[in-house]
Amino acid sequence: MSTIDGLPPLREVIAEHDLRAKKQLGQNFLLDLNLTAKIARQARDLSGCDVLEIGPGPGGLTRGLLAEGARHVLAIEKDARALPALQQIAAAYPGRLSLIHGDALDIDPLAHLNPPIRVAANLPYNVGTELLIRWLTPPSWPPFWQSLTLMFQREVAERIVAAPGSKAYGRLAVLAQWRSEARIVMSLPPEAFVPAPKVHSAVVQITALPAPRFPADAAALSRVVAAAFNQRRKMLRSSLRGLRPDIEAVLTEAGISPTARAEEIGVEQFCRLSLLLARNTG
Ligand code: SAM
Repeated sequence: MSTIDGLPPLREVIAEHDLRAKKQLGQNFLLDLNLTAKIARQARDLSGCDVLEIGPGPGGLTRGLLAEGARHVLAIEKDARALPALQQIAAAYPGRLSLIHGDALDIDPLAHLNPPIRVAANLPYNVGTELLIRWLTPPSWPPFWQSLTLMFQREVAERIVAAPGSKAYGRLAVLAQWRSEARIVMSLPPEAFVPAPKVHSAVVQITALPAPRFPADAAALSRVVAAAFNQRRKMLRSSLRGLRPDIEAVLTEAGISPTARAEEIGVEQFCRLSLLLARNTG
């Protein structure tokens, strides 16, 4: 059977390289190349971009990214079993796919990428949130990436795009929406993956804004949302007490009721609070 890129179908690749999915590596593979090309298209104009992919596995999304014209893809994969399959893709797209075998949490990909850079990945669920937080909290803004096109469990995707007042609203929403545009662009049922996970999935498209929506102190904002949503049922005057003994006065100065709860506070208010906390601790 032929495919859009002339490489073998993914089921054959998996059989040939004995890539039986391992749960501890969060392996749920996408085998439909039309679907992976569609996901790649969510990342928009790839032709002039380097793309960072985490966890290529047998390479379905990698092939989608290359077929959609990515200038160069850097793929970081922890599972050594996938490398021979990925090397075949690299051979079919000379000079356009680089592979790193290792843990994405330990590798700084920047030395291997040239701007403009986009990130695209069907993330392993066990490291997905940690990687996202890192990408959203870089040392300076704008970050190294122009956009993140990421597959998550639907519940995590909803937390990223959530509005204040909803149950899903929390740290991820504030950090994502402060200086990016975040949207759910695709929903996928469990059967889209092999093996099928228990839950639905969704692709989130996060585009970096040139500058933050509201002025804020990045470090203080991270601290304050972590503390506030760690004890989200508590009033802010008690969930944030650990940050400052006079937190009630600081909250009042920021225009926030000390008896409000974290999920009632909008991104702009958290930003204002972060500036006051940073200024006063000096
Ligand atoms: N991209 C492939 C696809 O869409 O079919 C595979 C996605 S699968 C959900 C996650 C992939 O991430 C697996 O290939 C797994 O081996 C890899 N992985 C898991 N933990 C990793 C880590 N810490 N660093 C790099 N890759 C990792």
